[in-house]
Amino acid sequence: MTVLLSVERLETCYGASQALFGIDLAIREGEMVTLLGRNGMGKTTTVKSIVGLLQPRLGSIIFRGEAITGLTADRIGRAGIGLVPEGRQIFPNLSVRENLLAWRSNRSGTSQPWTLDKVFAFFPSLADRQSHMGNQLSGGEQQMLAIGRVLMTNPHLMILDEATEGLAPLVRADIWRCLVALKETGLALLVIDKYVRTLIGIADRHYIIERGRVEWQGSSSALSQQPELWQRYLGV
Ligand code: ATP
Repeated sequence: MTVLLSVERLETCYGASQALFGIDLAIREGEMVTLLGRNGMGKTTTVKSIVGLLQPRLGSIIFRGEAITGLTADRIGRAGIGLVPEGRQIFPNLSVRENLLAWRSNRSGTSQPWTLDKVFAFFPSLADRQSHMGNQLSGGEQQMLAIGRVLMTNPHLMILDEATEGLAPLVRADIWRCLVALKETGLALLVIDKYVRTLIGIADRHYIIERGRVEWQGSSSALSQQPELWQRYLGV
């Protein structure tokens, strides 16, 4: 499979404090890949560096054959990387419908783009609440809206930073089902989350980050056979 995103020797600092010390990772077309690691290990910093919200100090980021290192978040978004950010960050004073329409574009140039109707068919509970304001939704509905909004941009790659945080188990299960369905459409996904057992069941490959470095990488079957890694790096 073709490599979609390739990150090499990525180093990022917050002022004088270095957070990433040479991250290498790759995502192929259609893959679901996870970034795992305890709190504060550098997962969000990696994602923010990829999408242009932080400027890397060193390293290279290649997306669909083009160097995107150091470009603005807007340019990287237009290249087809969509971020579902930590905390969802939907517009509280816009309706569900307006939240979705505000993001409408066809960045991948697909002949069958996501539309409002398609997003509502994918998330029927959003269809039922299309005139509700963002701040009137439950946590799960807000998360679906945050995902739906990125789908409206028709990205090549969707990155989800702690998409299931704060959600009840049944709602979390809905989100996992939604990610599997999106992978089946051919969308590549980079998922940051802590539910390693579930992620082993749905993702292709995993990277474990520890203090700004990739300490382990491998397939779901490899990770499932090494529970000592979960203990050592994930505290599971
Ligand atoms: P979490 O799950 O808690 O978000 P994480 O693995 O995503 O964890 P990061 O948020 O990337 O970790 O943090 C990596 C390191 O960078 C940590 O040591 C953190 O304290 C530091 N850091 C994060 N944001 C800032 C900031 N705005 N200013 C200074 N240091 C920061």
